[in-house]
Amino acid sequence: MRCPFCQHDNDRVLDTRASEDGFSVRRRRCCNNCRRRFTTYERVEEIGIRVIKKDLVREPLNREKIRAGIETACWKRPPSRERIDSVVEGIVAEIHGQFEDEVTSKQVGEIVMKHLAPLDEVAFVRFASVYHEFDNLNDFVKVLSLRQRPSDVGP
Ligand SMILES: [Zn+2]
Repeated sequence: MRCPFCQHDNDRVLDTRASEDGFSVRRRRCCNNCRRRFTTYERVEEIGIRVIKKDLVREPLNREKIRAGIETACWKRPPSRERIDSVVEGIVAEIHGQFEDEVTSKQVGEIVMKHLAPLDEVAFVRFASVYHEFDNLNDFVKVLSLRQRPSDVGP
């Protein structure tokens, strides 16, 4: 990040905090050249969290991929484009709130399901059946209990 005072591109991060909207982070930085401090605000997708896939290949967290999965699950279901957008934002914000650099694809799937459950029951079941790997019966029961959790969202 270029220093606003001396223009050197050499600084260290002193502190990172999520902003109140959850969609950006505020970082206090210290320039290693002039030693002055400055603050930057970065959109969460610029920070570059990586997803570890099942085959251990890592790829950048992709908001559009999450959205595509949810849109597929919501095919011909009531949730509007706006509802889906806000669910995607919530999912991305939660991932960035819980994980620093890396997250497994399984953890991403669990967060997606948590947000999908109150959105639309059919979409949730579709998503779960495609993305969740049921290693054993306990996992399956866990998912079912997630689905049956009372919704805090109106009808
Ligand atoms: Zn400087």
